Formats: sequence, C-alpha cells, structure tokens
Amino acid sequence: MRSTTLWARLLGLANAVVEDVDFDEGEECIVVSVRPRKGAKRRCGHCGKRCAGYDRGEGRRRWRGLDLGSMRTFLEAGSPRVRCPEHGVVIVQVPWARHDAGHTYAFDDTAAWPVTHCSKSAVRELLRVAWRTVGAIVTRVVADAEESTDRFADLSRIGIDEISYKRGHKYLTVVVDHDSGVLLWAHPGRDQKTLEKFFDLLGDERCAEITLVSADAADWIANVVADRCKNAELCLDPFHVVQWATKALDEIRREVWNAARRDGQKAVARELKNARYALWKNPEDLTERQAAKLADIANTNQRLYRAYLLKEQLRQVFALKGAAGIALLERWLQWARRCQIPSFIKLAKSITIHRAGIEAALTHGLSNARVESVNTKLRLLTRIAFGFRSAEALVALAMLDLGGLCPPLPERTPA
Ligand SMILES: [Zn+2]
Repeated sequence: MRSTTLWARLLGLANAVVEDVDFDEGEECIVVSVRPRKGAKRRCGHCGKRCAGYDRGEGRRRWRGLDLGSMRTFLEAGSPRVRCPEHGVVIVQVPWARHDAGHTYAFDDTAAWPVTHCSKSAVRELLRVAWRTVGAIVTRVVADAEESTDRFADLSRIGIDEISYKRGHKYLTVVVDHDSGVLLWAHPGRDQKTLEKFFDLLGDERCAEITLVSADAADWIANVVADRCKNAELCLDPFHVVQWATKALDEIRREVWNAARRDGQKAVARELKNARYALWKNPEDLTERQAAKLADIANTNQRLYRAYLLKEQLRQVFALKGAAGIALLERWLQWARRCQIPSFIKLAKSITIHRAGIEAALTHGLSNARVESVNTKLRLLTRIAFGFRSAEALVALAMLDLGGLCPPLPERTPA
C-alpha cells in the first residue's frame, strides 16, 4: 500500500487525496494536506451540485480530524469558491466534512457517540473540545440523520406531552411512538402552532393512519389532533385523571384542617396535617402508622374519608381497565355527583366532559407512561444540554439519544 493511501485509510478519507503530512511545531499537531478527488471537486457547499468555479477563496482551511495516536490531527486544504445557480457564491463542498463544520465527518460521528454514553466532562476531556462545540456537532449530525432516514413510516399510536426546562420557564412539545418507545419529534413551545408543525411534517396521508393518540387533557392537543388526525381516538392519560382526584382530595383535607384550626381543635388539626401522606399514598404502600392514621380518619372524619374512598375508587377504574373499568367509571360518577363534597362534584363534571377520552384509554389500555419515561430521560438531558445555549441543540441531543439517531462509530457497522 502506498503511504498516501495508508494515510487516507487511517483518516477515514474517501474521495480525497493526501498530498502531504507534516507536524506543526507551534500548535503541536499533525497537519495532513488534502484535496478532493476529481469527481468530488467544485461542488456547491450547500446542495452538492457541480458548479462553475468562482475564485480560490481565502487561503487554506483546517478541519479537526480523529487523533492519530495521542496527537491532535487536522486536515488542511484550500477553500476555493464556486458559483451555484441556486446558492450564489459559496465555499466548495469537501468530501471529508459537513459544510461550515470545523471537524471532519469521522470526528463528528466519534464525538456524537460518547455524548449518549458518557458524562459531559468525560466527553470534553476525551475529545479535547468545548461543550458548546459538542452541541454544534450533535446538531449537524442529527440534522443529517433526520434527512437520511424515514422515521415516520408505519406510525399508528403516538403519545404527546410537554416538558419544562430552564427551571420551568421554557417548554418542549414531545411526540413519542408507543410501539417503538422512540422519541419521534421535539420542538420548543407548547401550543397548537407548535404541535401543528409535527403534523405538517407527517403529511396528510400519514396523519390519516394514526389511530390512537395519548395525551393529558390539554385543549391545544385535543384541538390539533381532532383537526389533523381524522381517524384517531384521543386517549386521556389515566395518571393525569388520578392526579385530579388527588388534588380534589387535598382540597377537602385543607378545608377540614382549616376548620379544625379555626375551632381551636389543635390535636385534630395536627393529625390532619400529618395525614397528608396517608391520604396520598396508594393503600398497598402505606406504612403501619399511616394505615392507623387512615383508620382514625375513617372513625372521626367521615367526609374526608369519603373523599379518600372516591379517589381510591377512581384509581381502581384504571387498574381494572376495559369494560369493567368503564362500568365502574359509571358507578363512580353516580357516587361522586351526589357525594356533597364540592371538589369531587367539580371533578365529576370535568370527568364527564372528558369521558370519551377516558373511556378510550380504558378500552385500548393506553396511557402516557411510555411518554413519561422518555420525558424522565429528557429531563436529565436538559441538564446536560445546559451549556449548549440553544433550544435547537437540546432538541438535537434528545433526538440523538432518545430518537435513535446516533450514528455508528467510524468503521463500525450499525448494531
Ligand atoms: Zn447550491
């Protein structure tokens, strides 16, 4: 093998010719002079179309490549410009790096991989790059992967949710595939306009193939789904419904507690304050003391205990699922409507409004649990992405890690 060919193989260079290899004393790095092969010459940096040459550009450029041994290595080449009929005068495309990138394809792919496997500091130390550079690399790697794969084929059951980041000041809307558990799409914002972007990407034909959508009770989701997915049933996430009941229960607990304090019943007030967890928890998870507390409430405060039983029975509805769950929901509504506890009468009203979505969830056994688990991982990523300083890079990181868009390492076939 000729040594220039060996160098090209070492550096993972296709369609490029190695002209020279040198050591830069000042920068303490290896510099490999390269040029595109004939067929890869004079292409527009944006679209890759063959164009007429324009000028020789401004001197030579360097791209960070994979280290050779322990030494940082750069590719160096001229930067001529071409005139593209569509994009005007642009720097020529190079076969070893993405347009406008300061790193080679092999470096980009090598950097993206540990981002999904190692800590932030490990990635920085290993690659000798700034974290913000990693954000830019992830963004362009994911943009390429999104273009070259059809991730939206055969979608039928999706989950939609939102996640907050930057201490709850900003939001992402996320869409997850129930069948693969993969994050399909994420975008800054949480409103109709944001969600419509996803269905625009999906296209009318594929929107019509969606049969089930799980979500919480947000109107902006329901409206867009009704408008765009004509054949889809919306399933209301059971967890959210049970959460409503927990809130209604806490309202009555506070009410009873305040009344006890007003009447100077100090011991009762203290008991009620401490009973919060006993009332919140699922009965099977109660400690002995909490169970005793609950028994006390059953004896001394029947109104509060009735509210507790209402919450528990609603939870039972979702544990049963199917026809049995739907039948129990009907009995629950009858009970709640005449229970004389305002917060539960109100809850019965909202549940009646959302009944179709709740029954769909019971029939199809679909919850947002899968979406929530993606969100839990995404929440960790928002912390890692903090130094990226752009929502775009955060979304790219999420797609890289949870959307299955991480490229294989150079010279490895994908798993
Ligand atoms: Zn072009």
